[in-house]
Amino acid sequence: MNYRISRRAAALSPSLTLAIDAKAKQMKADGLDVVGFGAGEPDFDTPQHIKDAAAKALAAGFTKYTPSSGIPELRQAIAEKFKRENGLAYKSSQIIVSCGGKHSCCNVILATCQEGDEVIIPAPYWLSYPEMVKLASATPVILQTTDQTEFKVTPEQLRAAITPRTRLFILNSPSNPTGSVYTPQEVKALGDICVEKGVLIMSDEIYEHLLYDGAQHKSVASFSQAHHEQTIVVHGFAKAWSMTGWRLGFLAAPEPIAKAIDAIQSHSTSNPTSFAQKGAVAALTGPQEHLKNWLAEFDQRRRYAHQKLNAIPGISCCNAKGAFYLFPNIGGTGLKSTEFCSRLLEAEKVAAVPGIAFGADDYIRISYATSMSNIQKGLDRIENFCRSLAKG
Ligand SMILES: *Cc1c(COP(=O)(O)O)cnc(C)c1O
Repeated sequence: MNYRISRRAAALSPSLTLAIDAKAKQMKADGLDVVGFGAGEPDFDTPQHIKDAAAKALAAGFTKYTPSSGIPELRQAIAEKFKRENGLAYKSSQIIVSCGGKHSCCNVILATCQEGDEVIIPAPYWLSYPEMVKLASATPVILQTTDQTEFKVTPEQLRAAITPRTRLFILNSPSNPTGSVYTPQEVKALGDICVEKGVLIMSDEIYEHLLYDGAQHKSVASFSQAHHEQTIVVHGFAKAWSMTGWRLGFLAAPEPIAKAIDAIQSHSTSNPTSFAQKGAVAALTGPQEHLKNWLAEFDQRRRYAHQKLNAIPGISCCNAKGAFYLFPNIGGTGLKSTEFCSRLLEAEKVAAVPGIAFGADDYIRISYATSMSNIQKGLDRIENFCRSLAKG
């Protein structure tokens, strides 16, 4: 049998973050005392009222197909969220509910990009973006940034990267993996260039609510009608409501793009899970009290980890004002990220994600979506590891 894999699928690399997470979980299951900094999800439970709403829908038999882009009630609640929190006016028909924010991103790229198109992606990037671009047969164009600029691309860098083939610019603020947050002025400067050059923007705002040190989030779509018309905003329930396993994301797009995405979903996934959508309605329309507590907890861990990392020989870590990640520079240890992480896991049983997965080989990603005691234990072990490296 000739198991020829399609060019499209063969071009993809599997998700390294999911792989590391799986390896750490396996080591834990084998009885080893592993500290996992690999998590890409909050360690808090989904708020009870959200679970109750989904359970009630399930019990009431809300278990059949829904419209492929989501139930009207949820699309309406999402449109209201954009109006209320971002000052963005969308009709329900411009809102698409997908099977996770990842699915939303993928469908945006599939609906707008094709062979010959270039997609500009700032690095360090969320590792799925370039793979999704390849899936669409388009070409990722990576803009390197470092901790010297808090991992932000400059307007000059963006301008210089745009060619007649540029179709889409991907902006992710607050960022996974760096936790970096663009100021409203910085967002506007990048948006202005895209508007001037006619480049679409996919703005992944899934960490919108996870901000510290007084950082502010402003959607690039909100600066003018032109920005609004040129932007697709991607969002989801995974992070701020801790609903990763529910597989629910959403997007807001200009009507023709929303229609194309609806067509893609109608022939691939059909609707996101029916009763999960009822939970999502409760997430948007119910109390948001949980977030205050989570942010206080995340912030405490973030401060501790940031300070501790900077006290470890060979490591320096710039401040990160969003999401739940730090992205320390390990260049001073003399190791590249893959060797650093595999030796760290081997020697000290600490799982972190090598920066190379995000296009930045001198860094590792530390998720502080784990308990304070785990963070203390894990960072002590990283310190041991680095001291042993320094001794040679
Ligand atoms: C977590 C995440 C998403 C979406 O995750 P889902 O679980 O698919 O909802 C999207 N973008 C970024 C940058 C993320 O970190």
